[in-house]
Parts: sequence; C-alpha cells; structure tokens
Amino acid sequence: MALKYSRQRESIIANLMHRTDHPTADMVYADIRKTFPNISLGTVYRNLALLSDLGEIRKFSGEGGADRYDWRTEPHNHFTCRKCGCVKDMDGQQISRLKEQADAQFDGRIDDCSVMFYGLCADCLAEEAGA
Ligand SMILES: [Zn+2]
Ligand SMILES: [Zn+2]
Repeated sequence: MALKYSRQRESIIANLMHRTDHPTADMVYADIRKTFPNISLGTVYRNLALLSDLGEIRKFSGEGGADRYDWRTEPHNHFTCRKCGCVKDMDGQQISRLKEQADAQFDGRIDDCSVMFYGLCADCLAEEAGA
C-alpha cells in the first residue's frame, strides 16, 4: 500500500524516532502539538495505528493497557516499571536465540518476539531507598 505523503505523519515518525520512552499516543500528541497546534488526538491515533499496521513501527500493550509505540522494529526486549510505568529497551538478552528455540518447537511461523520484564526502574528504586 502506497501512502500519500503527509507532513503530520512525517512529524509523528520524527517525534517517535527522537525518543526512547516508548510513548503512548497521548504522549506523542502532547509533544507534537507544540509544532502542530492544530493536530487532533484522533489524527495521531490514526497515524500511529496505520504505521504499526504497515510494520513501520512497533506497537505493544503497556502497563495499564494503553498501547505504546516504538520505532525500533527489530526484535528486542522491554522493561516496564510497575511504579512509574516507564518502558525501557533491554538489549543483549539474546532474543534471536530465544526465537530460534521457539521456532524449532513450533509448526507455524513466528515473525516476531518480545519479552517484557517487570520491576522497578533505577529512578523509582532510588526514590524508594531514599524514602
Ligand atoms: Zn519507575
Ligand atoms: Zn523498544
């Protein structure tokens, strides 16, 4: 499917690529409004959904059920903080080996995999220790 060029969509992609916090649509919207005051939340939602359908970006469910978006589409793992809800990339977990092992035992086709780790992020841990 060929997408018609859209300045708003380009700016949504650009916004996503400048951050590593795996934002929700609301977070992208809050940020992008500074550049496009007239953009609607619906436009941001629609474009993020479209981009993830096309495989341009990755979508997953975050803590609390809100969809989070990630411009890194290659398989990688994530960490979610149970306290502040932040999402971070977890590298070096040998995810490709995990996928190979799963592939070997599975009759269908596995396209992607992602493991979610849960706990407290460093900030929340420090806060807790100081409290
Ligand atoms: Zn945290
Ligand atoms: Zn990620």
